Amino acid sequence: MRASPDTSLGQRVMARIDELARHTDEPGRLTRLYLSKAHRAAAEAVLSLMRAAGMTATIDAVGNVVGRLTGERPDAPTLIVGSHIDSVVDAGRFDGPLGVVCGIVAVEELTRRGISLPFALEVVAFGDEENVRFPTNLSTSYALAGRYNPAWLDGVDADGVMLRDALIAFGGDPAGIPALARRRGEVLGYLEVHIEQGPQLEAADRPVGIVTAINGITRARAFVAGEAGHAGTVPMAMRRDALAAAAEMISAIERIGAARADTVATVGVAEVLPGAVNVIPARVDFTLDLRAPDDAVRRALVAEVGRELQAIADRRGLSLAIEPFMDSPATPMDPKLMAVLEEAAATVSGPAPRLPSGAGHDAVAMATLAPAAMLFVRCKGGISHNPAESITESDAEVAVRVLIDAIERLAAKVAD
Ligand SMILES: [Zn+2]
Repeated sequence: MRASPDTSLGQRVMARIDELARHTDEPGRLTRLYLSKAHRAAAEAVLSLMRAAGMTATIDAVGNVVGRLTGERPDAPTLIVGSHIDSVVDAGRFDGPLGVVCGIVAVEELTRRGISLPFALEVVAFGDEENVRFPTNLSTSYALAGRYNPAWLDGVDADGVMLRDALIAFGGDPAGIPALARRRGEVLGYLEVHIEQGPQLEAADRPVGIVTAINGITRARAFVAGEAGHAGTVPMAMRRDALAAAAEMISAIERIGAARADTVATVGVAEVLPGAVNVIPARVDFTLDLRAPDDAVRRALVAEVGRELQAIADRRGLSLAIEPFMDSPATPMDPKLMAVLEEAAATVSGPAPRLPSGAGHDAVAMATLAPAAMLFVRCKGGISHNPAESITESDAEVAVRVLIDAIERLAAKVAD
């Protein structure tokens, strides 16, 4: 029985997401790690959905589920729509599966309407986006992009299981991974629908937004060294208090992070030594996480933080060392594909804001292969990586309609 045409697609998306959420490695909460039993079960469920939608579908050598709807022109490059079905521990149900299910429902709807596309349309359910179980980085999407790092196969999980062995047990084939690589010209583009994982669309009262870039990240450790002393006997003017200095530094980091549009700066870990109620702190070590959608902006942010922290240390007579340990460039989304999504969104639900992604996605890997763009869907309270993660059925409806509209626009461009 079909519901009213305005909500049937959204209803179908929500029902399938609920269905996938049943596949978990831990009773009572959703945890679906790469190559686990629950991952296999979810992959088979996705495979069935894809086949029922009229796609030829397989689980590939690295554990991706790949469904393909052939196009009218065999020589035309393929459009890929994807996201992931692995999760964090105690996850929400939408982070990842939303993009996969929207792709499948879009195919069902195109088929129902009797629309045939000039190009092949693939829906891919990647398996290793969260990078929770093994020390990998988007390994399954990098396999398609032809950038799989063979050293990932030697990575071990917390139980000492090697990725290579887990992949074989899952039904995959380590030797088959290199052959998964697509050639650049074979892929027309990559589209990913994903929950926003932040509060901006909710604040703007818009159902969907267009991602401009996936933020680059700089991470570093800062070491502030002063001098320990008796909390009762050393006069205030004669102290070199590392924690008081660090407090001033952390305030400066917050101010600098907030001074530019779209940048964020976080101190997530701080340790005080020696850490006693009656001792002036001698040393504070803290972490820095600085993100920006543009690498030049991020470098400027990092430089300003460095200058400001050094000035605080100098004025207080303390020593400071900053040691970077991660530098991940920003991934700008493709302007033409962004425009297609933007026009589609304008048609379906009105103007869609542009916003950067603070979190990483499979689109980072896929953008090394083909033009990539992402559609963000409003999520309640901006909450993700949490069982409280939620979206509305009507926003799911908008997302899948925008995706269908974008696919049709791309088809019209190819047909021209
Ligand atoms: Zn995700």
